[in-house]
Amino acid sequence: MKARGARIELAQVRKEYADSVAVDDVSLVIEPGEFMTLLGPSGSGKTTTLNIVAGFTAATSGTLTIGGVQMQDLPPHRRDIGMVFQHYALFPHMTVAENVAFPLKQRKVPRARRKEMVDAALETVRLTGYGHRRPRELSGGQQQRVALARAVVYEPSVLLMDEPLGALDKKLRESLQMEIKRVHREVGSTFVFVTHDQEEALVLSDRIAVFNDGGIQQVGTASELYERPGSLFVAEFLGESSTVRGTVQADGGDSLVTVGGRTVRATGRPPGGGPSAAVVVRPEHLRVQPAAAPVAPGVNALPARVVEEIYLGSGRKLELALPDGTVLLAREQADRLSAVRHGDEVTVVWDVERGVLLDDAPATAAAPTTPGDRVPVALAAESGR
Ligand code: ADP
Ligand code: MG
Repeated sequence: MKARGARIELAQVRKEYADSVAVDDVSLVIEPGEFMTLLGPSGSGKTTTLNIVAGFTAATSGTLTIGGVQMQDLPPHRRDIGMVFQHYALFPHMTVAENVAFPLKQRKVPRARRKEMVDAALETVRLTGYGHRRPRELSGGQQQRVALARAVVYEPSVLLMDEPLGALDKKLRESLQMEIKRVHREVGSTFVFVTHDQEEALVLSDRIAVFNDGGIQQVGTASELYERPGSLFVAEFLGESSTVRGTVQADGGDSLVTVGGRTVRATGRPPGGGPSAAVVVRPEHLRVQPAAAPVAPGVNALPARVVEEIYLGSGRKLELALPDGTVLLAREQADRLSAVRHGDEVTVVWDVERGVLLDDAPATAAAPTTPGDRVPVALAAESGR
């Protein structure tokens, strides 16, 4: 049977600890059946937000409703949620089938019905025939699929996942991403998925909420966030980007940004209206031509030198240093490689409408680190008390 996804609504949620603010004024609506990913660097408040939805952490202020019902004072096991963590937290002494049946037993589902539901859940995660095994007889990926089966077996209206693939290697992670996407489609619950891995977020999500420093920077579909980032943080955290910065001046509906003595044009105004701005261009929209070649009218052009040439199979990536030391990335498809080589003096060009004009901000260190899961919380969820 297909579970009905519930709508989740967080309004002005805040979580303070003695010496820090983990979540600061988070408001977010997650639609029934949606796949929402909370994406952000380590320490940005993703797990705290998820734990507030689960009921493991009480918010300091703000409200949470699931399916229109206020969740205040409702313990985790009464919230109709399933949960999967980075560390599988399967019961090692139980078989796979017993693990998956555990939440059904707790909910006093009759034995015969239990077996049917366990079989269906194992089929959903493609582990039919593994019911008699012990967790230690399974690979990491299989164990995580058992954890997923155990979380969906009672057809919760909400499924929460905190970095569930974080402990797996890249190949396995990618294949399990596809499994999770399929399970989401089949089960129909509302999924909230936490990751610090932007590629994973792009692959999985209907929408992504980008977290930074305890708050949400922007919410949108993958393509909205990629093509129309609202801040330098979002632009640089999602996908690769090339950024130039400079002082800004209005010119009709456009802005002129002076970058190391040269001027580039961008449409609109920087959101904050400050005296300096950043222009972000995705690497696939930058073109490179020999320095001596003429520049077409109406495009932005900056002189640069090719400082790195990286073969990618599907094409290549060029690192281009501007005279002030700024490094831009350009990406070329294998069937459209330019003739420029490492060390060449070149002109970098892009169409005005490909540049996204944003407020200037300090460069972000968007290198994600592996966050530590809080296992005691995970165990509290497993026992469902
Ligand atoms: P993320 O999951 O994005 O890595 P977390 O939600 O775990 O981030 O943490 C957000 C911030 O709150 C971090 O600075 C973290 O150190 C802090 N924090 C989380 N849990 C606690 C706690 N129990 N006590 C004190 N500080 C905490
Ligand atoms: Mg976390």
